[in-house]
Amino acid sequence: MAVRHLLAAASLLAVTACVTTNEVTGRSQFITIPASEDAALGLEAMQEVKKTAPVLETGVMAERVSRIGKRIAAISDAPELPWEFVVIDEPVLNAWALPGGKVAVYAKMVESFDDSELAAVLGHEIAHAVLRHGAEQMSRAQVQNMILAGAGAAVAAGTDNETAQLAVGLGALAAQGFVALPHSRDMELEADDVGTVYMARAGFDPHAAVKLWQKMKTLKDAGGQPTFLSTHPSDDNRIKRLQAKMPEYMKEFRGP
Ligand SMILES: [Zn+2]
Repeated sequence: MAVRHLLAAASLLAVTACVTTNEVTGRSQFITIPASEDAALGLEAMQEVKKTAPVLETGVMAERVSRIGKRIAAISDAPELPWEFVVIDEPVLNAWALPGGKVAVYAKMVESFDDSELAAVLGHEIAHAVLRHGAEQMSRAQVQNMILAGAGAAVAAGTDNETAQLAVGLGALAAQGFVALPHSRDMELEADDVGTVYMARAGFDPHAAVKLWQKMKTLKDAGGQPTFLSTHPSDDNRIKRLQAKMPEYMKEFRGP
């Protein structure tokens, strides 16, 4: 019982200490990782990725992704992050962003889309990093671990070993977790919105975001590639939403 109370108190403390209001979206976010640690976490995770995946940092594809990415990152709400854009040389329709502005796009994605469509992909990923969705997702997983530890403690009638499980947190969650954890539906839609505004501000016609998702649908149907940006908001939903908000996005577009 004592353990359960301790866990409840610790959870409550964590929750009250970590809810912050996102300056870009105004949304309240539960994040246990201080923003000052994002860059170090992202760097560490990217170094892990480079050990295990065929990462391209030079060459035509990598330079193209880096050029478009840096142009968008520069007008984002966090131009000061240590942005890095790489290509992973695998025939996959996928892309991801780590905390602190480390972004990867897979080769099939780079080959399938023109610059404006790639700008939609990169705008979306840059938005994830700026809005700290990776850290938010990690924090949610951390709480789930605490709840699981709490349930275990209740069952085991509480020895000090169970309280030790409170320490389960960042240490136990590998750096690659940032890549593996899917974003929630809300985060995806938020990244679509903010990302499309960013691409428009950087001089890419936001209509390309609609084209991207239409092409993605065709490519997925043809190649059985369901991975990119998780499946929860369906492509049709995304397309409809982007089309409905196009007048707002166009207000941000000043031409290339
Ligand atoms: Zn996403």
